[in-house]
Amino acid sequence: MTYDLAIIGAGVMGLFTADFASRRGARVLLLDQWRIGDPRAASFSLTRSIRNDYLDPVYARLAFEARQLWLDFQRQTGESFLIECGCLNIAKASVTPALSETYAEQSYRVLEGLHLKTQAFTGDGLRARFPQFDADLGRLDVEAGFLHVTPITAALRTRLRDAAVRIEESTVVHRISRRRGMIAIDTAAGERMAERLVITAGLGTNDLLARIDGCDLRLPLRPDRPTESRYLIPPPEKRAMFTPDRLPVFAYLDVGIYGHPMLEGKTPGVKIGYYHPPDVRAQVTSITSVQSFVGECMPALKDARAVDVEGADQCSYDLVADDNFILGAIPGLPGGAVGTGWRGTGYKFAPLIGRTLMELVLENSTVENISRFAPERFEVSRAG
Ligand SMILES: Cc1cc2nc3c(=O)[nH]c(=O)nc-3n(C[C@H](O)[C@H](O)[C@H](O)COP(=O)(O)OP(=O)(O)OC[C@H]3O[C@@H](n4cnc5c(N)ncnc54)[C@H](O)[C@@H]3O)c2cc1C
Repeated sequence: MTYDLAIIGAGVMGLFTADFASRRGARVLLLDQWRIGDPRAASFSLTRSIRNDYLDPVYARLAFEARQLWLDFQRQTGESFLIECGCLNIAKASVTPALSETYAEQSYRVLEGLHLKTQAFTGDGLRARFPQFDADLGRLDVEAGFLHVTPITAALRTRLRDAAVRIEESTVVHRISRRRGMIAIDTAAGERMAERLVITAGLGTNDLLARIDGCDLRLPLRPDRPTESRYLIPPPEKRAMFTPDRLPVFAYLDVGIYGHPMLEGKTPGVKIGYYHPPDVRAQVTSITSVQSFVGECMPALKDARAVDVEGADQCSYDLVADDNFILGAIPGLPGGAVGTGWRGTGYKFAPLIGRTLMELVLENSTVENISRFAPERFEVSRAG
């Protein structure tokens, strides 16, 4: 059996690539070293933010485009996994005195420039609308929220099974080469032949590139992970304050904080992460942990019980030296494409990335302008 497309890496990017390719009629093989859903992969947490509020308008526009594909996917599957509660960026003068330079204010200007839906709150307006917070400024990215990951993974698996996509889990890839005009993948279970290859292997990408005959590409990827990721479980009488009908996704990115409301019966509490957002200038402030953020900006959670978030939120994501996605053809492997380097922010883009990778390998072009993400920007020149 030869395949039109082999995909190595069955996280959310590989799953969506397989979905788009199979819907176009391609015979698809999806390989992974682990099992789909393994919490060592970044894609299998309980929730992931979906928001447009990037400082760089290119990413903001792509996120909004991806959102339309999530809405399509949701309609097609009849499932409900996109929780549209908005994403609120806050700032407080006692923490970050230059309020007009905060992430909240800067990203708000980007969203306004792109004519995306926003709402602005003064300190008083914020306390009236979202009494969970103690801050001086709030900027709401309205068409945002979070994704409930478990039903998404299940829906993708069902679609791939129905489309007869061949999935080989727990499979070790030894070598990739061009043979008889095709791409040969030598695995521990035998040789697999495909016309085209997509690699969506996250932090495992360089290991696979090194196994491709004649491919010198190595990517400057670096693992990073949140310093802390916790569920804050409010007492019963307060739980209603923290569900998505009353609480949006929230962030204070200048100090490395983001959070998700609790999903009753599905997540234990309000998720709050403390991390180093790659696109934000680090500032020294009084907020140095989830607990200090709660004390300063979310006093309504002071009496909540805190537990660590387990699973994929304890694993690492893939930072890139120049802080841009890596998406495009693999130099040295005709018919091959790679997608990685999502910088801790990739989940929301997944259907768009999957569609783009499918277009690149099966249609040889894409409607997206992805020149900025070209893998070859990291190719070491062999000249001289
Ligand atoms: C803590 C945390 C919080 C995050 N929060 C958000 C968020 O709120 N919103 C958002 O949009 N994004 C978020 N992200 C980022 C998002 O989860 C990732 O960008 C996305 O899941 C990456 O998907 P992927 O398919 O590229 O990688 P992965 O899910 O890591 O999948 C890669 C797959 O490749 C396989 N593989 C690797 N090497 C090999 C090999 N040699 N052979 C075979 N298979 C191989 C692995 O086994 C794995 O299954 C977060 C990430 C983390 C870690």
